[in-house]
Amino acid sequence: MKIIKNLFDSFAILLVLVLTSKAGAQDPYIPTFTELAPGVWSGVREDNPRFPVMGTATFVISDKGVVVYDGGGSATMAERIIAKIRSLTDLPVTHVVISHWHGDHNFGIFRYLEEYANVQVVAHTFTQAVFEGTRIDYIDAYPEQIPNFKPQIEKGLEEGTLLGGDPMPDVMRGVYERILEDADMIHADNQRAKVTHATLTFDEKLTIRSGARRIELLYLGDGNTAGDIVMWLPEEKIVATGDIVVHPVPYAFNMPPKKWGATLRRIQGLGYETLVPGHGDLQRDQSYVDLLIETADSVVVQRDALVAQNIEEADAIAQIDFSDFESRYIGDSDYLAVYFDAWFKKPMAAAAFKELKNIPMVTPNREE
Ligand SMILES: [Zn+2]
Repeated sequence: MKIIKNLFDSFAILLVLVLTSKAGAQDPYIPTFTELAPGVWSGVREDNPRFPVMGTATFVISDKGVVVYDGGGSATMAERIIAKIRSLTDLPVTHVVISHWHGDHNFGIFRYLEEYANVQVVAHTFTQAVFEGTRIDYIDAYPEQIPNFKPQIEKGLEEGTLLGGDPMPDVMRGVYERILEDADMIHADNQRAKVTHATLTFDEKLTIRSGARRIELLYLGDGNTAGDIVMWLPEEKIVATGDIVVHPVPYAFNMPPKKWGATLRRIQGLGYETLVPGHGDLQRDQSYVDLLIETADSVVVQRDALVAQNIEEADAIAQIDFSDFESRYIGDSDYLAVYFDAWFKKPMAAAAFKELKNIPMVTPNREE
């Protein structure tokens, strides 16, 4: 029964992912590296939200070693981050920090433990609780993910329908074709996905002093999960946020808007000059996070008004209106419009009402 449920969840995840990729280069595990400050680098898998989504890596080289934040959502991605680090320094990786439990940020980091002795794996207590629970079991479906869904994608292309059965808009044909092009590589990489448990956990704040570097790991409140930690470099004024911030469209699954808004305000309060989102383009000013805060606040105000009117929850969810914001995220892109609807509007509206129930958005164990 559990396997069936995992497969179903995996199908639901893939359905959305399939809806939200687009055509381009062959290999989905190539990071683009940028030096943000001397010795501080990001590795961004471009073209977010391409399938499979892949969290951005950030690493900091000191005169004592290397601290990595989100070192790779897949083994191949991690190997490419490691190769880049080795091209820059002979010093070892000493710490791999996990921003949150979602596999696209950590299913490849076991490769650091294979390549370097004595690596500390650092995560929030909640993240490690998920790794010890059944929530993370969705990884069990990885080896069969492509064999399960490739025939459905092929059928969709042949019949001109999306996986859910709706007619396929033109903008989605290239998305499906690209997944077929990438399928062999994704399948090979999926065989190597692994959960890596933390060796060091904390709840509020942990400071790593590596040589002259000061690296602060901060829990600033719930965002994309109940255990998101950001990496803040006070000297360099660089913050890496994990999926609390995702560009160009946020990932809103189980993201409580009131708490998210408060957490975003704390990030703004750091006074960063560069922000590394969990996915998507680097931010060099505060404007994108201001837009996120404005959106979160609007959702909260609308939700509270609907609750005050005693409107049935399903109707109320449907009435949350994003039209003041949508074009500021997606411009005139039809493709991003599909993504904005599936990954932001619908899950954000649902999460807004779940937030009122005073229950955890996600628990470390699956509800059976
Ligand atoms: Zn992610």
